[in-house]
Amino acid sequence: MPAPAAATMPAAAAAGHTTKRNNGKSNHNTHRHTNNSNINNNNRHSTLCNSIAHLGDSRTNLTVNTTPTGTTCQRLSEMFRRSIASSTQSSSRENTYEEIYPGPDPKHIMGSLVFCIHHKQGCKWSDELRKLKGHLNACKHDATQCPNKCGAQIPRVMMTDHLQYTCTMRRTRCEFCQSEFSGAGLEEHNGSCGQEPVYCEAKCGQRILRGRMTLHKSKDCAKRLRRCAHCQREFSADTLPLHAAQCPRAPLACPQRCDAGPIARGELEAHLRDECQSLAVSCSFKEAGCRFKGPRQMLEAHLESNAAAHLSLMVALSSRQGQQIQMLKSAVSKLSINYTGTLLWKITDWSAKMTEARGKDGLELVSPPFYTSQYGYKLQASMFLNGNGPGENTHVSVYIKVLPGEYDALLKWPFSHSITFTLFEQGSQSGQGGVAESFVPDPTWENFQRPSNEPDQLGFGFPRFISHELLHSRPFIKDNTVFLRVKVDPSKIVAV
Ligand SMILES: [Zn+2]
Ligand SMILES: [Zn+2]
Ligand SMILES: [Zn+2]
Ligand SMILES: [Zn+2]
Ligand SMILES: [Zn+2]
Ligand SMILES: [Zn+2]
Ligand SMILES: [Zn+2]
Repeated sequence: MPAPAAATMPAAAAAGHTTKRNNGKSNHNTHRHTNNSNINNNNRHSTLCNSIAHLGDSRTNLTVNTTPTGTTCQRLSEMFRRSIASSTQSSSRENTYEEIYPGPDPKHIMGSLVFCIHHKQGCKWSDELRKLKGHLNACKHDATQCPNKCGAQIPRVMMTDHLQYTCTMRRTRCEFCQSEFSGAGLEEHNGSCGQEPVYCEAKCGQRILRGRMTLHKSKDCAKRLRRCAHCQREFSADTLPLHAAQCPRAPLACPQRCDAGPIARGELEAHLRDECQSLAVSCSFKEAGCRFKGPRQMLEAHLESNAAAHLSLMVALSSRQGQQIQMLKSAVSKLSINYTGTLLWKITDWSAKMTEARGKDGLELVSPPFYTSQYGYKLQASMFLNGNGPGENTHVSVYIKVLPGEYDALLKWPFSHSITFTLFEQGSQSGQGGVAESFVPDPTWENFQRPSNEPDQLGFGFPRFISHELLHSRPFIKDNTVFLRVKVDPSKIVAV
């Protein structure tokens, strides 16, 4: 008894029931000659069987080499075909094996060790060839007719599955509506069963029985469109409450509980600002200090009965404002004060001022105050147009005064800077001509001690600075204007 030659040697010979027998006896005779030399050679036998294996494993696909020079394996397959044919087609029986293949002992071939034709599908069966048919009747990989007569050939191992899930003739129930169907009927029913829960087509996220979808979409779906009752715009049902909380047309009661009735949200602000009779408003004299606050309709009565109080509030306010104006003025004048140590004093309306001085004894004209430096002495020039002391009626007198200044406490006293007065000729061709007088303060002179805050401080200077005669003989006055320069020099050197 030969052992199975190799794992790759399937029982190809078994796959023979569609073999065409179009060859005459001459073919088989040829066959026989080769058989004689090969059949007893185990190694040779295995190789030939391997070559047959390449023709295929399925009983329905296999075709057999039908060339005149057939092989041993060809004979094997034919032999097996006949062994099956004899069991199923006894009525059409043809020649016996012995009649066709007289020669080597068929019992020996039927005793060859083979694998199951479903070896590649995983069947591990291996035994004598004569037992193969019996095995195939039970082999779980072998196909059999579906008992439901759906026409399918199904491997036994898959039959349960087929009967349960894929057989078109199976009886089955729809898992949703429980109605009974054939397999094919269920496939048709699938996708249209009214009891099947499916996701809402409007994508609201809910699962709805298919049969109730229309109702859901019109009544319950969060994504159905709904119209705002106030502004008539459309919103999905789930966003409508959010809109309702902001809809500018939604009517609201006045938060001040006035009698106006419901007011559209968008108009409420204007109502409160301009119309609401209940909203507390401030008295129009609030800035002056009135603290009244009450409903709009009471304001008028308040104004009428508090006229006197409002008036005194306004007076107090205006005096506060007056003080503020003074403070601002002094701040502005401080900003414009001259800290250079040189004053150029422009005296306008000269003739009118001269006339006034002639009619009024001791009329003194004073310049804007100026400082000798940023933190220096505060000075002021003064002028008597009609003269003073020895110059009275004939000369113009000029003087300098030391005024109480911001930084006196830190300065050296007595004041000792030299002072130069210059009266300019105007429009002169040869530069600035004019009259100039200077002096260096004498430390013993009282006028140059630290000044007190007494207003009538005396000045020091030149009572006969320039005669009226000279004043008019040269161009000191032009456009009714005179320029006097007062220059302070800390170096004490008198410069003209
Ligand atoms: Zn098997
Ligand atoms: Zn079936
Ligand atoms: Zn159903
Ligand atoms: Zn929905
Ligand atoms: Zn709306
Ligand atoms: Zn109101
Ligand atoms: Zn008031």
